[in-house]
Amino acid sequence: MFGYRNAPQPLEPRMSEPSWREQAACRHAAPELFFPAGTTGPAFAEIEAAKKVCAVCPVSSQCLEFALLTRQEFGIWGGTTEDERRLLLKVVRAKARSAGRAPVPA
Ligand code: SF4
Repeated sequence: MFGYRNAPQPLEPRMSEPSWREQAACRHAAPELFFPAGTTGPAFAEIEAAKKVCAVCPVSSQCLEFALLTRQEFGIWGGTTEDERRLLLKVVRAKARSAGRAPVPA
């Protein structure tokens, strides 16, 4: 029925193929480092430690894109905290509005 070029594709092919995770610098790190309880006190040091791992991660942009697309509300993804990702999405929405583009879903 479908030729190869017309075959249905997943809506988010990169999201259904998490191969980038196999290259993640955090693959063998303690998961709790990337999900600190809060943003102050001891959690601040954990966030900074997690961000240092992300800073040398070869797939940090894929990780951040995944987190933004799937609206990851908790944890460190792509070197960003949840608050930083919320701010990023606000900036993206504001730019889309000012350029007259379709709104970015919340
Ligand atoms: S960017 Fe950070 S959280 Fe994302 S895969 Fe790399 S090390 Fe893990």
